[in-house]
Amino acid sequence: MTNCFSIPSALQLNAIPAFNDNYIWVLHNTEQAVVVDPGDAQPVLAFLAQHQLQLTTILITHHHKDHVGGISQLLQHWPATTVYGPAQESIPLRTQAVHDQDKIQLAALGCELEVLSVPGHTAGHVAYFGRSDQGEPFLFCGDTLFSGGCGRLFEGTATQMLASLNKLTALPPQTLVCCAHEYTLSNLNWALEVEPNNSDLHDYYQQAAALRAAQQPTLPSTIGLELRINPFLRTHIPAVQLSASNYCSGRASNDSEVFAQLREWKNNA
Ligand code: ZN
Ligand code: FE
Repeated sequence: MTNCFSIPSALQLNAIPAFNDNYIWVLHNTEQAVVVDPGDAQPVLAFLAQHQLQLTTILITHHHKDHVGGISQLLQHWPATTVYGPAQESIPLRTQAVHDQDKIQLAALGCELEVLSVPGHTAGHVAYFGRSDQGEPFLFCGDTLFSGGCGRLFEGTATQMLASLNKLTALPPQTLVCCAHEYTLSNLNWALEVEPNNSDLHDYYQQAAALRAAQQPTLPSTIGLELRINPFLRTHIPAVQLSASNYCSGRASNDSEVFAQLREWKNNA
């Protein structure tokens, strides 16, 4: 039902599928668990029961229903759970409001998280960057970065979103990217229109298609991979600029404008 991605340490990272295409990420050891953006409580409760885990922490990236809808039911079962969420958004039952650069100690799991403010999809969206007890970096980015794509601009501007994505791409290339939706194949179909000559993109498409055919998640991705295949992270590449300007029948004069052209194109794809 879920895939299990082992970081080489006592920690494990799992993607619990929810709704049509959401993933609720769980970071856990053999006893305690942290869940990210539980839009639905049922699949999380089932996972915790199956693995005999105690829920200690909920991390929320933004206020959309498919990310916060399960909080109250989880708290009914686990009332001592700490709920972290962005200070600038209204998050139901949040107990800790977080700001850019805040540090969160997950003492039981032996790791520390850093909060990154990444506005664009929503105005107060945050991401959580951490390292396992062995130092392996991972990122919970909600609906900001997807594999091969990025979130729609519901409450922010192209300039804001590009700045947010640049913050994420400055993280180590091996960082595991834990996105909140399985949008990879549809993103890659579009990315291949943008960059038909990108051989890394063709290779990755084949891998991702095989994973989906086997009903496996394509995630987590890595920052290094996304830099090679994700058009929204490649606004500085001439081939991407040319495709974007052809689609929009006009040359962009900076990376933000290229980004806006790509976002427009993807919205209509
Ligand atoms: Zn969202
Ligand atoms: Fe979402």
